[in-house]
Amino acid sequence: MADIIQLLPDHVANQIAAGEVVQRPASVVKELIENAVDAGATEIKLIAKDSGKTLIQVVDNGGGMSPTDARLSFERHATSKIRAAEDLFRLGTKGFRGEALASIAAIAHVEMNTRQQGEEVGTRIRMEGGKIVDQEVTVTPEGTSIAVKNLFFNIPARRNFLKSNQVELRHVIDEFQRVALAHPDIQFEMYHNGNDLFSLPASNYRQRVVNIFGSKTNEKLVPVEENTEVLKLSGFVYKPQHARKSRGEQFFFVNNRFIKSPYLHHAVLSAFEGLIKEQTHPGYFLYLDVDPTTVDINIHPTKTEIKFDDEHTLYAILRSAIKHSLGQFNIAPVLDFDK
Ligand code: ADP
Ligand code: MG
Repeated sequence: MADIIQLLPDHVANQIAAGEVVQRPASVVKELIENAVDAGATEIKLIAKDSGKTLIQVVDNGGGMSPTDARLSFERHATSKIRAAEDLFRLGTKGFRGEALASIAAIAHVEMNTRQQGEEVGTRIRMEGGKIVDQEVTVTPEGTSIAVKNLFFNIPARRNFLKSNQVELRHVIDEFQRVALAHPDIQFEMYHNGNDLFSLPASNYRQRVVNIFGSKTNEKLVPVEENTEVLKLSGFVYKPQHARKSRGEQFFFVNNRFIKSPYLHHAVLSAFEGLIKEQTHPGYFLYLDVDPTTVDINIHPTKTEIKFDDEHTLYAILRSAIKHSLGQFNIAPVLDFDK
């Protein structure tokens, strides 16, 4: 009898895994920006060309990597963020799978320049189709710059499947805004085809919302605040009169991670019941801080869906806190500018 099973070579396994992690340019943007946040950056710059199809570059001033770590970072399951599966339940970082860079490098041309804080020189690595084509000592600022060129160059079917530049750019901007809203203390910039799209100085939550969505937003915001044993809630909802036919701005963050939750969304809708017309959508920016041991984020590779231990309690708190805020605002529509 002949044996027919073989282990796939790493670059093949990485290309397959890449299919899950990287659907489009926006997926790369999310992974690279989250890595920059995890690296402790206080300034993060995104440079994109052709909606990310030809170039996505993220430059950060975070911790940087040693020459060995720089090389290792492109290996599959290589991560500095967890050591054991239990660590998932006390996670303070965005990343943990150690898959993103390996996946991205398998399906694009990647150039990394990185220098650790306090080191004299840095490292430059170039990768093509998952293989290192060159590594050298280089002069580069402290922190890390990763440029991803020609996404899906070796998977034409994927490349052809990408949507128009307009649609892909919308996705890129969405990811950029989500991370920027989650981390107002970090300065963010975004350039597209040489144009300055966003320039967001480090500030507070309210100011970050206003800097992204325009100065008129300020007067639309009603602060929401609640502090219970299981949930610390903060953020804003738009006043009912700003509900719109299109969905617009609806953001949940759990422990500073953007998430989607149809269930919690429903809690918000029910708080607006009777205050907005049917078929219109309220805007909201809601930040939930919960004990990390009560959420499981290890559900989906792109990690926008999570599982809560006690969804029902969160629902009830959310609903009543928003109702309370909307009620207060009706009596005294004074805005708190210090928040
Ligand atoms: P994960 O984020 O899940 O750990 P990645 O493939 O995204 O996996 O990154 C692998 C590792 O490379 C990270 O754990 C981190 O140690 C390092 N790394 C990636 N990006 C950066 C960066 N911008 N600055 C410093 N280190 C980085
Ligand atoms: Mg990562």
